[in-house]
Amino acid sequence: MQMQTGTASQTNEKPETAKKLVEIKDLKKYFSVTSGTFRKNTQTVRAVDGVTFDVFKGETLGLVGESGCGKSTLGRCILRLYEPTSGEISFDGQNITQLKSEYLRSLRRRMQIIFQDPYASLNPRMTVGNIIGEALVIHKLFADIAERQKRVAELLSIVGLRPEALFRYPHEFSGGQRQRIGIARALAVDPQFIVCDEPVSALDVSIQAQIVNLLQDLQAEFGLTYLFIAHDLMIVKHISTRVAVMYLGNIAEVAPSSELYVDPKHPYTRALLSAVPIADPTRKKSRIMLKGEIPSPINPPSGCKFHPRCPEVMEICSEVTPPLIHISEKRQVACHLY
Ligand code: SF4
Repeated sequence: MQMQTGTASQTNEKPETAKKLVEIKDLKKYFSVTSGTFRKNTQTVRAVDGVTFDVFKGETLGLVGESGCGKSTLGRCILRLYEPTSGEISFDGQNITQLKSEYLRSLRRRMQIIFQDPYASLNPRMTVGNIIGEALVIHKLFADIAERQKRVAELLSIVGLRPEALFRYPHEFSGGQRQRIGIARALAVDPQFIVCDEPVSALDVSIQAQIVNLLQDLQAEFGLTYLFIAHDLMIVKHISTRVAVMYLGNIAEVAPSSELYVDPKHPYTRALLSAVPIADPTRKKSRIMLKGEIPSPINPPSGCKFHPRCPEVMEICSEVTPPLIHISEKRQVACHLY
């Protein structure tokens, strides 16, 4: 995979002057699930279970973890596409946790999402022009139809598509081109912050780099801030300024990208990274095999949720939940080893 070297925002890791754009405090999102013949048994899925972190203006915060760890739910809660169960979300200094729907519309202009599946996320019955133009209509931008079409054609050009695409339908495009349409739709309203929810996972490896490079170019051009959700650790390494590692609804570790991949602190991060192939055959790395499967978020383990699988588990781990603490200015870890 050929990717560009990092832009200024990728290489300049959280400068001291960086301002917080998104602040998440103790965010929880629980879902109720019912089962049984009369749907009487109600259980609670703790998808996001007390998450705290910040996203700084102009950076890309990578969010990694295994499937089902709560990454996508967290991304949707931040955008208020899901109502959080508790906790606080602030955007550009404003607490948006309880914002009523009439105020959410103007907020949505500033916060957008790029979905994982470019096949499912575009309405097959709408032309590309209408898919991208819809956001302009909703937000009452470019009331004049000709002006709106001009803006949509400009957006298509920005994401590397020809203006003729305006009148065509999603099924006429390849997966990579559809994801470009999804990106153009997100860009249409001039957002500041974009949640990229596994934006390349559904694409061929050969196309992934093109989309990642496009996202980097757009970030540099428009000063965008990204929360980049993915399970592919190497893509996250490439694009992210900092990385947050998530396990079963909690943040296990947050670190600058360059430090995390060289010196992971949390035992879960170490295990995840030990499974990533390295290009240099002279460097030896032994894979850390974790015991068992990721537990269910319906009935998660007590204390540190990673304790049943942790190679370094101690007595305290099953009893006391480790808080996410700073171990240096830029690094945070939730583990009793620190
Ligand atoms: Fe392992 Fe204990 Fe640290 Fe959890 S708190 S990661 S179980 S050492």
